Amino acid sequence: MVPEHCSWRSDADVASMNPCWCVMVALQSRWNVPFDGAFVNDGGAISWISRNSSKPGRPDELDCWTILSDRDWAASNLAMAGENVAEYLVAEMAKVYPVSMPTALFRQSHRWLYASARYPMANETGCAWDETMQLGACGDWFGKDNVEGAMLSGLALAGRVLGSANERAYQNHLTHLQFSRESLSQLTLKF
Ligand SMILES: Cc1cc2nc3c(=O)[nH]c(=O)nc-3n(C[C@H](O)[C@H](O)[C@H](O)COP(=O)(O)OP(=O)(O)OC[C@H]3O[C@@H](n4cnc5c(N)ncnc54)[C@H](O)[C@@H]3O)c2cc1C
Repeated sequence: MVPEHCSWRSDADVASMNPCWCVMVALQSRWNVPFDGAFVNDGGAISWISRNSSKPGRPDELDCWTILSDRDWAASNLAMAGENVAEYLVAEMAKVYPVSMPTALFRQSHRWLYASARYPMANETGCAWDETMQLGACGDWFGKDNVEGAMLSGLALAGRVLGSANERAYQNHLTHLQFSRESLSQLTLKF
């Protein structure tokens, strides 16, 4: 997709993405664990769980949780049926903390094939910009693979675009000035 002669094409070529299975589960009543979100670092199928219903303004009749799978687990189980993934990950979530989990009334899975950057770009500017082609790229694959990373990268690219536009406006201005001086000297010679 990136044109052949673009200066950052080879960087983009090595930026590959990890998959992630994501499950939403609604529990019949509150799961009485002492947290609303937890990274799960036990080398198993889950990487992160969070209580969606703890967000402001969410209904609290049901206790809704989001489960994100571990990226390597997702890569090894890409072809698993969605219902089986949901069932498995909810059962795994119940083991995360030794407090009995209420019955799951609803669960649904979604497979994100391109969820997070595997090798963030080795680029300290936070974005990619080819001045000659006037072509840039930004996103969470420039470092931090979350909304903050994506936003910082977008701001960095906006800076490059504006900087380039200013530079070109300045150069146009100089050319115009040069032209005016030449016209003026020719006029002076005539008189
Ligand atoms: C399941 C899951 C949960 C997450 N939860 C959180 C969280 O709680 N907090 C957090 O900070 N981050 C979270 N993240 C990460 C966060 O979503 C990403 O880091 C962020 O969305 C990246 O933003 P982006 O603009 O780089 O890319 P994206 O949001 O992926 O935007 C890229 C856009 O480009 C479009 N696109 C792609 N190809 C083309 C094309 N050829 N032509 C036109 N358009 C195209 C896509 O449709 C998409 O709209 C989560 C990610 C996943 C997968």
